Amino acid sequence: MTRWTHRWRRGMAALSGSLLMACAVQGAAPMAKSQAPGFFRMMLGAFEVTALFDGTIDLQPTQLLTNTTPAQVNRLLARAYEKEPLPTSVNAYVINTGTKLVMVDAGTGTLGGPTLGALAANLKAAGYQPEQVDEVYITHMHFDHVGGLTHAGQAVFPNAVVRADRRDAEFWLSQANADQAAGDMKAFIEHAMNSLKPYVAAGRFKPFDGDTELLPGVRAVAAHGHTAGHTVYAVESGGQKLMLWGDLMHVAAVQFAQPQVTIAFDGDAKRAAAQRKKAFADAAKQGYVIGASHLPFPGLGRLRAAGKGYEFLPLGHLPVK
Ligand SMILES: [Zn+2]
Repeated sequence: MTRWTHRWRRGMAALSGSLLMACAVQGAAPMAKSQAPGFFRMMLGAFEVTALFDGTIDLQPTQLLTNTTPAQVNRLLARAYEKEPLPTSVNAYVINTGTKLVMVDAGTGTLGGPTLGALAANLKAAGYQPEQVDEVYITHMHFDHVGGLTHAGQAVFPNAVVRADRRDAEFWLSQANADQAAGDMKAFIEHAMNSLKPYVAAGRFKPFDGDTELLPGVRAVAAHGHTAGHTVYAVESGGQKLMLWGDLMHVAAVQFAQPQVTIAFDGDAKRAAAQRKKAFADAAKQGYVIGASHLPFPGLGRLRAAGKGYEFLPLGHLPVK
């Protein structure tokens, strides 16, 4: 080997070494391709509140929203930098009062497909076990609120009492209604019956009738309309208040601006719109925190009147002490 070829080879080796290193540096950190655990915590007076993420479902607001037009819906979606299909969160909430662990709604379980059903895993990620849940309060019996109660016919929360307004129980847990219904409605009723079944069988389903104090600091407030027994829950501790709204609304980009807009899932659209308007006005006036099942996770924040509608001010991440 001549001196020249030796130097040349050594130079090439050094060059390719540095090229390899450059490549290695560029590829050193593979993308994680995973999201943060789906829970969010806040204190409400002496209560600890945890929002749980069940997943997202794609909605087509132009097809689902009523008392509006597709052009209006598209305009409001675009204003919020959104478009169809609209990934829509499914949220549930856990309240630790210090003496009881209460869950409000239970997610979809296995009824909503692969983008949903993460509630139980996120409950555990948040530091709780399903066995620790004492009570589950249901806003209404659509599958995305009750599906997670049951897995393969077994109660997911084996020690919990489940509570909901008797009007929802009478409609959604009625075999006669299931027999008469067809299509989606039949499926919805059967999903509700199967989801509640182990609790009903064990005598651990206890319906209530309209406005009811369920625990010190936790109250059911009738907001009938979306379903016959749709209920919101008022949580109060240390002078602070949280209202858990369930399905009082579905599409933030549209319904905060135009609370009169309704959705095909509303059993009684007129009453649902009236309940929403009343709830929005009260929240903006009082300034308390609200949590809603289908606002972007964690779905917690406050309302401020803006023109003929409202602005939503989401809560940020704060220390919990
Ligand atoms: Zn829902």
